[in-house]
Amino acid sequence: MADVVCVGELLIDFVPAGAGDDPARSDTYRRAAGGAPANVAAGLARVGTTSAFMGQVGDDMFGRFLAAALQADGVDVSPLRFTRAARTMLAFVSLAANGEREFLFYRDSSADMLFAPVDVDEAAIRAARILHFGSISLIAEPSSAATLHAIGIAREHGLRLSYDPNLRLDLWRDADAARNGLMLGLSHAQIVKVGLEEASFLTGIDDPLRAARSLWHADMMAMVVTMGTGGCLWLTREDHGVVPGFAVAAVDTTGAGDAFTAGLLSGTLETNDPCVHANRLPAICRRANAMGALTTTRFGAIPALPGRAALQAFLDSNV
Ligand code: ADP
Repeated sequence: MADVVCVGELLIDFVPAGAGDDPARSDTYRRAAGGAPANVAAGLARVGTTSAFMGQVGDDMFGRFLAAALQADGVDVSPLRFTRAARTMLAFVSLAANGEREFLFYRDSSADMLFAPVDVDEAAIRAARILHFGSISLIAEPSSAATLHAIGIAREHGLRLSYDPNLRLDLWRDADAARNGLMLGLSHAQIVKVGLEEASFLTGIDDPLRAARSLWHADMMAMVVTMGTGGCLWLTREDHGVVPGFAVAAVDTTGAGDAFTAGLLSGTLETNDPCVHANRLPAICRRANAMGALTTTRFGAIPALPGRAALQAFLDSNV
């Protein structure tokens, strides 16, 4: 049984392979475990916070590869379901001319979308302290109903609800559907990590503090807006602050946001207090920034996540 249950999509990222190749032109791809909630689960396990992954993959070679990859990282995969009715979701990652990552998704009735309310492992949620979710599982039915069912169980049992809106515009019908879907997730969230671009997409406001304030609701405990090299801005009901990022030699920012979320959640779990207080957030955000920064210094998402010792050494050497 794990402290954090992450629910949502688990997929294969096909990333351009071949050292020295121009990734924008690569005709060779390597499979890597992907999916934001899965990255968060792996990030938590790496730093010693027990985590479980809940969702569905195909009963196929990719699904089995993903389960084994998470398990190898110490994530409890007992709430993961396998189906013969659909294939595992795939995404091909490429680099656009401006250096931004682009995703080509193969997600037509994929296994993750068929995750249904009956597939939700209620016992795993009851035993946890945080349920973490994103927006991709809210796009289609029945996975949206399943995610909301998991949220309902978590609420009933007093878990904290953590959310990363994680915008993937291509997967939604249009921008309005995306905005509505992301806001639906937000309405259930108590701890929110949101990227600056997503915050301005949702609010039309570019200033992080004003955007965060306009996304705030009465049931929220903490919101953190991540700002790449600029670190992050945190907000509670009564206070806010900016925590600068770390200067590192970044080679690939894939997974930085998910590593950040893992740092944020593991930090909030270090006391038994179910609330997230303003006086602890600067230290928690510093640790989350460090996890994000360290993840940019290596390629990929899960392979780049730091372990507990590396994280501590980095924090100690950057006082
Ligand atoms: P997202 O991927 O969700 O948009 P960000 O790119 O803002 O998230 O990154 C999340 C966190 O990771 C940042 O708040 C920061 O702490 C860290 N980070 C990201 N990119 C860098 C970088 N190039 N150098 C140092 N830290 C970084």
